[in-house]
Amino acid sequence: MDSVDVVVIGAGPVGLACAIAARRRGLTARVIDKGPLVCSLVGYPNQMELFSTPELIEIGGHPFATRRYKPTREEAIDYYRGVARSEQLDLRLYEKVLRVEGERDAFSVMTEKGTHSCRRVVVATGFFDVPNRLGLEGEQPPRVIHYYKEPYAYTGQEVAVVGGKNSAAKAALDCYRNGARVTLIHRGESLSDRVKYWLRPDLENRIQEGNIQAFFSSEIRAIEEGRLLLETPDGPRSIANDFVIAMTGYRPSYDFLATLGMDIHKDRARTPVYDDTTFETNRPGLYLAGTVCGGLHTGRWFIENGRHHAEQIAEHIASGHAPEVDLANRHWVTAE
Ligand SMILES: Cc1cc2nc3c(=O)[nH]c(=O)nc-3n(C[C@H](O)[C@H](O)[C@H](O)COP(=O)(O)OP(=O)(O)OC[C@H]3O[C@@H](n4cnc5c(N)ncnc54)[C@H](O)[C@@H]3O)c2cc1C
Repeated sequence: MDSVDVVVIGAGPVGLACAIAARRRGLTARVIDKGPLVCSLVGYPNQMELFSTPELIEIGGHPFATRRYKPTREEAIDYYRGVARSEQLDLRLYEKVLRVEGERDAFSVMTEKGTHSCRRVVVATGFFDVPNRLGLEGEQPPRVIHYYKEPYAYTGQEVAVVGGKNSAAKAALDCYRNGARVTLIHRGESLSDRVKYWLRPDLENRIQEGNIQAFFSSEIRAIEEGRLLLETPDGPRSIANDFVIAMTGYRPSYDFLATLGMDIHKDRARTPVYDDTTFETNRPGLYLAGTVCGGLHTGRWFIENGRHHAEQIAEHIASGHAPEVDLANRHWVTAE
């Protein structure tokens, strides 16, 4: 395939922003994604209201017009599709990147469908592909899911929602309002402080009035036919169960980062090693952008702040700085 200056791995909001910023500096860019455009947003719950107001997730200076205070998942997908079309981005979708061979100025990005030659690589692969698993036997769909879309399949069913953050709160309320008998199970003593102000009182009131059962400081110990065995502060409990919605968070694919030769800090968040000004990694010519930069600390970067990585990376690539020059005063970020 014809060579380009920059290959961006990941057609999420930040990957798209990186390609736009590179092209604005006269560089050629190609965006490769293993799934559809903005694959992670496609994987969000249907009709979900984002927590950002539209202007905070705009990219490339394209206005995000919507009547709502906060856009829905569907509006955000439409917006990013519109941006990609008007920027005429070179998109290669449903093409998984397997590894990156070569070095700065002469990389070969190997995918399931072929090889892309380029001078620089930007890795904007997010964190949504690897769910934090419960690690229990029987933990597979349809009984146990990690990607919640909508409540209709759960009407009249015994549904356990695992987790204590926004996704768990939303799924629990959604399923309850659509006729499921919902039990919330969270290993924390209470709901996370990060639960949004418009979700918290609603859920807490449903629990108080007994319409949603809740077990805090508790975990599932076993998934059995028609029931779950829980470990609770009052000892083992058995509850009736048909489905488990495990909203236990996600993590970047460390296997993929390892194939890229990326160093990972030994901090609690297992943060990838990159320069906090240029986002260049320990492998010269290979950059990291967006939410993947946070490692396990998936709340550190999101669209609102991750989109700004694009300008810093494109500026560094366009300046043609040789990594040797900067090594002396490079300061590696850590999550602490
Ligand atoms: C339910 C939910 C709601 C959120 N709401 C907001 C919000 O309102 N505001 C906000 O700022 N943030 C929000 N976030 C956080 C986060 O900003 C988003 O997850 C956003 O998608 C991150 O953008 P990104 O471009 O860094 O990564 P992603 O959008 O995750 O994009 C990464 C892309 O890389 C692709 N990819 C991965 N591996 C490969 C490979 N090997 N080969 C090819 N392609 C690959 C994936 O398919 C994916 O499309 C939310 C997150 C979740 C889970």
